[in-house]
Amino acid sequence: MKKSDLITEDKPCPEKERKIPKVAIIGNPNSGKTVIFNRLTGLHHKIGNFPGVTVEKKSGWLKGHKIIIEDFPGSYSLNAQSMDEQIVCEFIQSWRQEENRPNAVVVVVDATNLARNIFFALQIMDWGLPTILVLNMMDEVQKNNLYIDDQLLQSRLNVEVVLPISAKYGQGIDDLITSIQKTISQPRKSLQNPVFLKLDDRHRPLQELIDYLSKNRTDHTILPLIDSVRAISDDSYLQFIKPYLDSDQLKTVTHLIKKARETFHINGINFRTMESSARYNFIDEDLARAFTNSTETDKTFSERIDETITHPVIGSILFVALLGLIFNTIFSWAQYPMDMITSGMGWLTAELNILVPSSAFKSLVIDGIISGVGNVIVFLPQIVLLVFFIGLLEDSGYMARMSFMMDGLMGRLGLSGKSVLPLLSGFACAIPAVMAARTIENWRDRLLIIMLIPLMSCSARLPVYTLIISALIPQQTILGFIQLQGLILLGVYFLGFFTALFIALVVKLFTKKIKGSHYIIELPPYRIPMLQSLWWRIFDAGKKFIITAGSIILAMTIILWFLASYPQTNDAELVSQEQKVSQSYAGQLGHLIEPVIKPLGFDWKIGVGLITSFAAREVIISTFSILYKIEADEYKEVVSLSEALKNDRYPDGSKVFTPLVAISLLVFFVYAAQCMSTFAIIKRETRSWLWPSLMIVYMNLFAYTASLIVFQGGKLIGLE
Ligand code: GDP
Ligand code: MG
Repeated sequence: MKKSDLITEDKPCPEKERKIPKVAIIGNPNSGKTVIFNRLTGLHHKIGNFPGVTVEKKSGWLKGHKIIIEDFPGSYSLNAQSMDEQIVCEFIQSWRQEENRPNAVVVVVDATNLARNIFFALQIMDWGLPTILVLNMMDEVQKNNLYIDDQLLQSRLNVEVVLPISAKYGQGIDDLITSIQKTISQPRKSLQNPVFLKLDDRHRPLQELIDYLSKNRTDHTILPLIDSVRAISDDSYLQFIKPYLDSDQLKTVTHLIKKARETFHINGINFRTMESSARYNFIDEDLARAFTNSTETDKTFSERIDETITHPVIGSILFVALLGLIFNTIFSWAQYPMDMITSGMGWLTAELNILVPSSAFKSLVIDGIISGVGNVIVFLPQIVLLVFFIGLLEDSGYMARMSFMMDGLMGRLGLSGKSVLPLLSGFACAIPAVMAARTIENWRDRLLIIMLIPLMSCSARLPVYTLIISALIPQQTILGFIQLQGLILLGVYFLGFFTALFIALVVKLFTKKIKGSHYIIELPPYRIPMLQSLWWRIFDAGKKFIITAGSIILAMTIILWFLASYPQTNDAELVSQEQKVSQSYAGQLGHLIEPVIKPLGFDWKIGVGLITSFAAREVIISTFSILYKIEADEYKEVVSLSEALKNDRYPDGSKVFTPLVAISLLVFFVYAAQCMSTFAIIKRETRSWLWPSLMIVYMNLFAYTASLIVFQGGKLIGLE
């Protein structure tokens, strides 16, 4: 895709683009909107088998056409609770002004769950814009022998097309493209009056308001019937129609609302639930024959295995075992490609050693760039595997179960169950996770989760963890089958997670809010993950890793090489290379902060690594590589980085890296706030510098204190 094909959201739409036809994809969460969007545009935005994956509007060109396709977050109704839902609901409300109306709306429903999905679909169809109703997941409909009469639906709903498709398998996409083209070529319609409600005699008190709005609306900016129903049932709804009324009209409308409510009240009718009851009357009487309700079918396969998987005890054991298995697999499967990359580097170094004459340039390339960047690139296979497994968990539907299972625990910590998914997705990367917190309705909860997400060990920490663990933790097995190294890695991941829960508990004790809201999650069925989307996840993560290695890490590597190689002293007394590095700029810097980090068990080299890792976490690996590489005598045999760490000694002969130092360093990396992009996204999402600044302070304080406790405590009980 060319760069110019991308439409970014930050730029206002240029005048000439306003004329380009726009098609909006709208529907319930998890109905497959983004899969459809990706198929139509050729882009590869993130999908997952749980609600709340898409949290902002995404745009792209329909492949090969001058038509803009817009993918929106999902919502269950026009009554928005969370920020992601607000985005789509506000968009729909903006249709009152003609320039905001899309040329066509693609309403997507999960056809296996029509009874539930049709509610929001009808709310959108109320506006009477040119609509294509897409019945997605037809493969599952067929597999489960559900019945859907699309012809009948089309005649009852009077939409342009009702289109059964299976987006996952690409079936029906060509028809969808044809329908889009046909629909947008028709002249634009003004907003219409809704027909998708069944009101009866009991709803008479509405009439006066409806009549008033019908008579007084200008340019069809108000939908008299549906706006009346909502304005009466929902106090906050008036804001949407207010701009289209003058002050006298507003007074009358307010008066009529009050009057209608009073009459409803006297008649004993609950006006708050008026819309949904009238809507379901319509669905039951006019649409029910068009589909079978999936709840009437037998207990599905998913429901049966869920009894085990979401069981409080069995489910938790399974979860931990699964994570353990994943980490072990990451260690063992990644080993072969990692060895290959290492030997490739060794070969390159050896060749260059012969070809390039000794010079500062040679040292920069071999000791600096190849060693610094290469030692990071080595970890690519591990990142790829981690992202692959997280993708599997998300797209199969397992992650949705985890959030369901932890709902109770979250409630006790004063958090909403919706916090689990953003927290868990922090294991891949904090940036999308912070965005995912938009699904949390309550601002206090959302802010707290945003502040806790950076404690989840993201994929950038994995290389640091595995380097330290594989180099410094002995390869032992416990109880005959549990690998000590794998266990420590699992422990490191849990440390961040449980610390987050602990902080939530403390915050709960000190703030007024006592109860977390329980959320009713609609558990999606287990699905076979989409290979294409898994591939793109891996590709994107790999690309991002390589780009970081080729930019930030490369730049840091060059700076570090310089700092570690200069000033070059000709002092005859400094015989060893080691002493020279120690006296270099980098060495001086390290020695400067050594007193501060000594109590954590860290020497000056680790100190340099800690400082540089604030550019990007992986840079600590490059730092070690460069310091040890330059330090090593050129003529000696080249040793691997982990060997170098293992063999490093203080002048008194004692080891720099003991297992206790390793644990202290691991703990530091779990807690330290070291990612600039995370600060930036938190600033954007909270619209304030306060929260990212607070995060930097609290996390780094936490990191220092925790490492101090680990190291000093460990020494006290005789560990080393
Ligand atoms: P969105 O929330 O509406 O954007 O939904 P996504 O596009 O993220 O898809 C939700 C889930 O439904 C993913 O796990 C997809 O793999 C799955 N999915 C999407 N379309 C189909 C389909 O046609 N058939 C089946 N079986 N699964 C689908
Ligand atoms: Mg989506």
